Amino acid sequence: MKNKGTKYIFVVGGVMSSVGKGIAAASIGKILQSRGYVVANMKADMYVNIDAGTIRPAEHGEVFVGEDGIEADQDLGNYERFTDQVSTREDYITTGQIYAEVIRRERNLEYGGEDVEVYPDIPKEIIRRIEACQEKNKSDITIIEYGGTVGEYQLLPFLEAARMMKSKNPENVLFVLISYLPTPSLLGEQKSKPTQRAINDLHSVGLNPDFVICRADRPASPDIKQTISNVCSLPIERIISAPDVYSIYDVPVNFEKENFGTTVLETLGLPPKSKDMADWRTLADKIKNIKKEVNIAIVGKYFNFKSCKDTYISVIESINHSAWGEGLKPKITWIDSEKYETDEGALSELDQFDGVIVPGGFGKRGTEGMILAANYAREKKIPYFGLCLGMQILTISYARNILGLKGANSTEMDPESPDPVINTMADQVAKIQNKNYGATMRLGAYPANLKKGSVAEGAYKIDKISERHRHRYEVNPKYVKKLEEAGLVFSGESPDGVLMEIAELPKTTHPFYLGTQFHPEFKSRPLAPHPLFTAFIQACEEKGK
Ligand code: GLN
Repeated sequence: MKNKGTKYIFVVGGVMSSVGKGIAAASIGKILQSRGYVVANMKADMYVNIDAGTIRPAEHGEVFVGEDGIEADQDLGNYERFTDQVSTREDYITTGQIYAEVIRRERNLEYGGEDVEVYPDIPKEIIRRIEACQEKNKSDITIIEYGGTVGEYQLLPFLEAARMMKSKNPENVLFVLISYLPTPSLLGEQKSKPTQRAINDLHSVGLNPDFVICRADRPASPDIKQTISNVCSLPIERIISAPDVYSIYDVPVNFEKENFGTTVLETLGLPPKSKDMADWRTLADKIKNIKKEVNIAIVGKYFNFKSCKDTYISVIESINHSAWGEGLKPKITWIDSEKYETDEGALSELDQFDGVIVPGGFGKRGTEGMILAANYAREKKIPYFGLCLGMQILTISYARNILGLKGANSTEMDPESPDPVINTMADQVAKIQNKNYGATMRLGAYPANLKKGSVAEGAYKIDKISERHRHRYEVNPKYVKKLEEAGLVFSGESPDGVLMEIAELPKTTHPFYLGTQFHPEFKSRPLAPHPLFTAFIQACEEKGK
């Protein structure tokens, strides 16, 4: 281990996925940070993709974008929201990245003529990346969340890397197993057998958990805790009960109730420090007592069978943060934009909402419906907030309906459009032609200047901002003047004035009609809501009155 004193906590899942491993890892970061330690949260995904950028959002969930432009798993968003630490590429690894680097080095003769083997060269590269994350973050404690669940074939090299680190420095490395305790309705009794199996899976690769977090719909009973502690020879205080809670922001509070922070520090041999989570606790409590609702429609295109929570997680959380900040309880309704394309009459359902959001997206499907929704919200003065694609939609809709350019479109949707009000930057043309899609968009943080007196400047209360991007297309400079003459205000621009970053209508024309070429949702925090989301929610509240 490079930096001897530093500590590592591996978070692995057992029994099944989707039980909140990311939130648990983020919460571990939060409680240790609140005790004065520098923490880093890292995600290791098992897939061969180099990053999450090329994976369908309805399949894998949101692609979270870091300051440096990394297109990462949505869990990095959870980490940022909980610990308020900025993610970069050091905080995210995949099987694809690990193999690509090992193969690159092999081609460069960096293995000096040796065989390059899955074992130990792959685990060694994983260890190198974990240590690089620690070094970048200068963290006292590095929390590494492994995607997937124990027992999966593709997890083996990652578990082996963790085992190698543990065997070198047992006192510096911990394993936390996030498990699930089902209560079959016919029995009405909580069962620990699947967790015992997951522990056995860990044993079979030479690992024993140091903590077991028992996710369940109810608290883990003392008997169950005792059984699990016996199976892995752990003191009972290392078995943590993690029942379903009112909001994800309760998870760190609940962990502290279980004395998790103190026990982790003791186990790592770190001195106890007093905790400071007062603001967080106040927010988690406040959320439960908010009664007044604000009704938001998200008109999008990535819907899986049940919920869109994963696909639009940062958007949902940003709405939550701002609504809670204003003392409101958000009620979000998902609308598949495609339906407006065959049934324009259905647009009138938008009247019942306090505001409409059109979030990011790619490809033509559903965009005509979004354009109709944007026009409807403008005409009916329903607050409208467009995020990236949503800003492009706003612009296209304005060009069609106010400038009368009926064929206006983005060249992404219609390469032959007579009025390509949205098109690519020159450097993107070759990339698209060569099908060079991975990590080639305009990605990560870029600065912008805000127009004095605009809605955007009024919200931010500053005139220079920096926000994260993920897009290939832009407002076509050739149409900027025409659109402005027709009343659209480009209130945010790149410092050289070439790229339009925010489009809006003045307050005198519309209560809130604004779109951003960037993704403000990546920077909202529970205790520091994003100013544009807050301005939107305020307009929604006004409409609801
Ligand atoms: N598809 C659009 C573009 O590439 C918008 C991207 C997005 O919404 N993130 O520019």
